[in-house]
Amino acid sequence: MIIIDGKKVSSTVKEQVKNETAELKAKGITPGLAVILVGDDPASRVYVNNKKKACEYVGFRSEEFALPATTSQKELLDLVEQLNEREDINGILCQLPLPEGLDDNAVIEAISPLKDVDAFHKQNVGRIMIGDYDFLPCTPAGIMEMLHAYDISVDGKNCVVIGRSNIVGKPMAMLLLHENGTVTICHSRTKNLKEITSQADILVAAVGKPKFVTADMVKDGAVVIDVGMDRDENGKLCGDVDFENVKDKCSYITPVPGGVGPMTIATLMKNTLKAAKLQNKIYD
Ligand code: NAP
Repeated sequence: MIIIDGKKVSSTVKEQVKNETAELKAKGITPGLAVILVGDDPASRVYVNNKKKACEYVGFRSEEFALPATTSQKELLDLVEQLNEREDINGILCQLPLPEGLDDNAVIEAISPLKDVDAFHKQNVGRIMIGDYDFLPCTPAGIMEMLHAYDISVDGKNCVVIGRSNIVGKPMAMLLLHENGTVTICHSRTKNLKEITSQADILVAAVGKPKFVTADMVKDGAVVIDVGMDRDENGKLCGDVDFENVKDKCSYITPVPGGVGPMTIATLMKNTLKAAKLQNKIYD
């Protein structure tokens, strides 16, 4: 069993972005990422801080817009509009979910597709569907990058994704399909979940329930990717997979923390770099 080291793979990706950023800076271009955070959710604050730290590391300019939970929909959309217009901002991300009363989808659709470094805008989602895209969503793309780094082929494999969110489950399934996996998506209405997951050569858990995937749900020798960022009964960070009991059945498994999480941020850096290049008409 090999524990996939997301930290290590993400460092390699960030190093590459850092080098390319230095080349861009030499041409007078500094990629800029705007991060919007509404309200004071502590988990969102941690995610935003990590994203800002990564920007600093690779040499981007990051600008944070921390707004109170009382911000109106119009104020938020006006801010997005201003950022869409600014030439020094190449990527815009709004930390989701937004506080009650604000519409996540309206904000996603307001962000210019050219600056949509999360790849959530329906124009980008559609482009991913047909396999002709500029940006891929950060978590699924980060997972694919990890699989590539460990030479894990998807071609012809039985892939099972638990979860069908627009952010993780659905695009994850699509990326596995693009690489010729035979993909099944499971969700809360799936019958006989265990029977399906036990057939998976590659099992991706994006459920949001601590230690949901137990050893009896996993095939011997499977590759298990844990997207979950949950808290166990003691309030400790854990994933959707019961790591201690599952790991010995796997050929590869990602830990939490140190697996998918760092890859998500590294991919965000890649997307922002790409946005800066495209907006400056640098095609490679
Ligand atoms: P989500 O929108 O809540 O989606 C959860 C999915 O799990 C839904 O599709 C739901 O089915 C399914 N589900 C719930 N209970 C189930 C059950 N008993 N059996 C089978 N499926 C079930 O969550 P998300 O945004 O995709 O995130 C999933 C997890 O990943 C969370 O822990 C989140 O914190 C984490 N996450 C981590 C990263 C990272 O960078 N590491 C990034 C994003 C998310 P229905 O559709 O039928 O309700």
